[in-house]
Amino acid sequence: MADCLFCRIVAGDIPAALIHQDDDLVAFNDIQPQAPLHVLIVPRRHIATVNDLTAPDEVLVGRMLRTASAIAQAHGHAGRGYRTVFNCNADAGQTVFHLHLHLLAGRGLGWPPG
Ligand code: 5GP
Ligand code: ZN
Repeated sequence: MADCLFCRIVAGDIPAALIHQDDDLVAFNDIQPQAPLHVLIVPRRHIATVNDLTAPDEVLVGRMLRTASAIAQAHGHAGRGYRTVFNCNADAGQTVFHLHLHLLAGRGLGWPPG
């Protein structure tokens, strides 16, 4: 989608600090990190929210989680722990309507979230 920020990052039109790329996914550092490691894992294909996932997307979502785990492990956070979050719509504070998985690590993360 031409007017989607993360589609533009995926296309390379807007720069981002890339952490990982493959045929289906791109991962890059969040521009406003909320933890020492804050990476966004996004599908190349535009999907607006978790509500828009369909059965054929189940493998893609599994890959997003496994990629988050691999990045956490590569940065030395697998043992102490990390958080993965999908925000969906207004009450969760979703601001970019292109599906993204937040990976947060490197500090103690409070629960419940604000
Ligand atoms: P949401 O609130 O939708 O779950 O998360 C969107 C995230 O995208 C936020 O954490 C925000 O900091 C991040 N973000 C917004 N604009 C940009 C950008 O231009 N580049 C990068 N790398 N991250 C962005
Ligand atoms: Zn998009």
